Amino acid sequence: MTENKKQTVLVIEDNPDSMVLITLLLDNFGYRSIGAVNGEQGIQMAIERQPDFILLDIQLPDINGIEVLKRIRALDMDVAKAPIIAVTTSAMSGDREKLMAAGCDGYIEKPIDPMKVISQISTIISESL
Ligand code: MN
Repeated sequence: MTENKKQTVLVIEDNPDSMVLITLLLDNFGYRSIGAVNGEQGIQMAIERQPDFILLDIQLPDINGIEVLKRIRALDMDVAKAPIIAVTTSAMSGDREKLMAAGCDGYIEKPIDPMKVISQISTIISESL
């Protein structure tokens, strides 16, 4: 795989430890990761960088991840159709129907399992295509 064929992944995550873990794993497995630390920055980077898919933490400091999801889906550009994977905690299981209804392609539970997360992501991506 040549450098310019790498898939770009936008990671929207406010927790620095989670951000480091997920972006290191993605980069290690051949993706090109870019990070945004809140919802507004995430939407802006989705517009500017047109990532191939997005990992979206639902608990963000500015706007709720579900709102971020809706606003990306409402964009009039290619990224509006990109797979979006929510990152949730088990305490938020009640939000999952809302997430799927808002156009989320799947979700990963926190704490992220470093041994499983890449296969979880690739399964959701392949099912969304
Ligand atoms: Mn968070």
